[in-house]
Amino acid sequence: MRIDLHLHSAVSDGTDSVEQLVRKAHSQGLDVIGLCDHDTFDGIEQAKAAADKVGIEVICGIEISCAVGDTSIHLLGYGCDRSNQKLNAELAHIRESRLNRIPKMCAKLTDLGMPITFAEVLAQADQAGSVGRPHVADALVAAGYVANRKEAFDNLISADNLAYVPRYATELAVAIDLVHQAGGAAVIAHPWARGADQVITAEYLATLLHQTQLDGIEVDHQEHNEIQRTQLRELANSLGLITTGASDYHGLGKTDHEMGCNTTSLTDYSKLMERITARGGVS
Ligand code: AMP
Ligand code: FE
Ligand code: FE
Ligand code: ZN
Repeated sequence: MRIDLHLHSAVSDGTDSVEQLVRKAHSQGLDVIGLCDHDTFDGIEQAKAAADKVGIEVICGIEISCAVGDTSIHLLGYGCDRSNQKLNAELAHIRESRLNRIPKMCAKLTDLGMPITFAEVLAQADQAGSVGRPHVADALVAAGYVANRKEAFDNLISADNLAYVPRYATELAVAIDLVHQAGGAAVIAHPWARGADQVITAEYLATLLHQTQLDGIEVDHQEHNEIQRTQLRELANSLGLITTGASDYHGLGKTDHEMGCNTTSLTDYSKLMERITARGGVS
């Protein structure tokens, strides 16, 4: 069984439509995929219908924009009841803040001599209900200011760059509880990527686990090197956390994150499904 539990579609910042994504997963020989768009469940129903047609399984997932202090942390929620009101209210709050920051980023880019409009960014976001910096990057590419998303992030829109504007993010422990209340299982995405290793320490994880009953951590991810993967796996084993592996595929939006480049073992996948069943969630 080939299981890739973290993929993005054009419903957030991936570039494949939901149907393209599911067909590609099937053609790449994946048996189970987790659709984890940023802060929205919009693509799930369509993905499940497309998966039924080709004979693979789609797990309902989400990647929630969280924070620990000032550090951005992503939380994967699997098997949540998509109609849970508290979770949906929080996701709506994040999406609203995602949208509100865009005109401010456009103004900063315009001041930097790269005039770009809110409308241009929305055109790049197309049908996406969850608008993000990658769409700002796409608008910059379309206007000819940068060659690709990476260049936009490297030089203009990362947290330490001039055109950056922060947005609201849910406190990590609160988001874990929301996932649990919706019947799901909570897994910290790429816990040591992009400087988060300074925050997601062994001590912090132990405390968080005590506080929230966190279910797992994503260990096999392209932004973790081999040493980090080994250390994270040992840490997870010592704390009794489930370990997952996934591509974090974004279509053309992110290089070196090809579908199926990391996978989750059947054992860990089964443990995750057991947690969801025990909490009354829906996979
Ligand atoms: P946002 O949540 O809108 O602030 O944007 C963060 C998203 O941008 C992340 O979820 C990544 O998918 C994406 N991202 C971050 N760095 C890069 C990069 N260097 N190239 C492409 N996408 C990136
Ligand atoms: Fe993303
Ligand atoms: Fe992420
Ligand atoms: Zn992701």
